[in-house]
Amino acid sequence: MRSHDVLVVGTVALDSVKTPFGNVSNALGGSASYASVACSFFSPPRIISIVGEDFPKEHLAFLQSKGIDTLGIQRKGKTFRWEGLYEFEMNEAKTLKTELNSLATFSIDIPPSYADSRYVFLANIDPALQLDVIDSLKDPTLIVADTMNFWISSKKKEVLKVMERTDIFVLNDGEARQLFGTVNLLKAASLALNLGPKAVIIKKGEHGALLYTKGKHFSAPGYPLEEVRDPTGCGDSFGGGMIGYLAKEGKHDERTLRRAIIYGSVLASFNAEDFSLNRMRTLTQKEIEGRYLEMKEMREF
Ligand code: AMP
Repeated sequence: MRSHDVLVVGTVALDSVKTPFGNVSNALGGSASYASVACSFFSPPRIISIVGEDFPKEHLAFLQSKGIDTLGIQRKGKTFRWEGLYEFEMNEAKTLKTELNSLATFSIDIPPSYADSRYVFLANIDPALQLDVIDSLKDPTLIVADTMNFWISSKKKEVLKVMERTDIFVLNDGEARQLFGTVNLLKAASLALNLGPKAVIIKKGEHGALLYTKGKHFSAPGYPLEEVRDPTGCGDSFGGGMIGYLAKEGKHDERTLRRAIIYGSVLASFNAEDFSLNRMRTLTQKEIEGRYLEMKEMREF
C-alpha cells in the first residue's frame, strides 16, 4: 500500500450536540473529520475541506497526529457549524441549526499532490462540490459517496448525479426512502443501482447496514453497544473505516467489501461511545481487531 492513497472530502466542523447523556458545544466534528480519522486506522488519508480563521489549531494538530494530510484544508472566514439534538430515539439526529459559513463560498481546489488519489470518499457535503471533485480526479480506482437529508431536500438533482458517477453509494434508511419516495428499502436500493453504482449500502443506525449489489445482498449486524453516548459521526466513521480498509487491501471484490462493511460498523460503534471524536483519540488497533472478531462470531450459525 502506498500511503495517502485515500482522499476524503467533506466538512470539518464545530458541532454543538445534545443527547440524553450529555452535551458538547463547538467541539470538533464534520463528516471529513470523522471519516478521515476512522480511515487513518487502516490507511491515513488526505482531506479536502474548509475551516474558518476561528478553527482551533489543536484540532488540525490532532488530525495530523493521526497521519492525515491536511494540506487540502483551506482556511477562510468562519467555520461551518452544526447543532444537533438526539432524544431517546438515538438513531436520528434532529438538526437544530446548520450554519454553512465558509462552506457557502467554498470552491474545490485540489492540491497537485492529491490528484493521483485512488480511493475517494465523498463524505457528506454539498453534492455540487462532490461533483467538482469527481471532475478533478485523474484516474480513481474507487469512488464512494455519502449524503444526508439536508442535501436531498435542497439539491436532489445533484445528489442523483453524484450517485450516477460513483462506484458505491452509502445512505441511511430514512434518506433512501426520502430520495426514492418508497418505504421499501429493497425497492429504493434497486432504483439506486439502476442509476449506475455497482453497490449501494443502506445504513440502519444501531441495526447495522445492508449491502446491495446486482442480484445479491448482504446484511451486517450492528454491534450491540450497551452505552451509546453520542451517535454523531457514526455514518462518517462507517464510511471512513470502510474506504480505509478497502484501500489497505487494494481491492473491492464482494468478499473484501463485506469485510470492509464490518470494519466500518466496528469504527462506528466505537465512535458512539463518546462525544465528538473523543473515543477515536484513545482507540487502538487491538480494540478494533477484537470487536471485528466478535462481530464475526455473532454471525456464526
Ligand atoms: P453523521 O452523524 O455521520 O451523519 O454526521 C454528523 C456530522 O455531519 C457532524 O459532525 C456535522 O458537523 C456534519 N454535518 C451536519 N450537517 C451537515 C451538512 N448539511 N453537510 C455536511 N456535513 C454536515
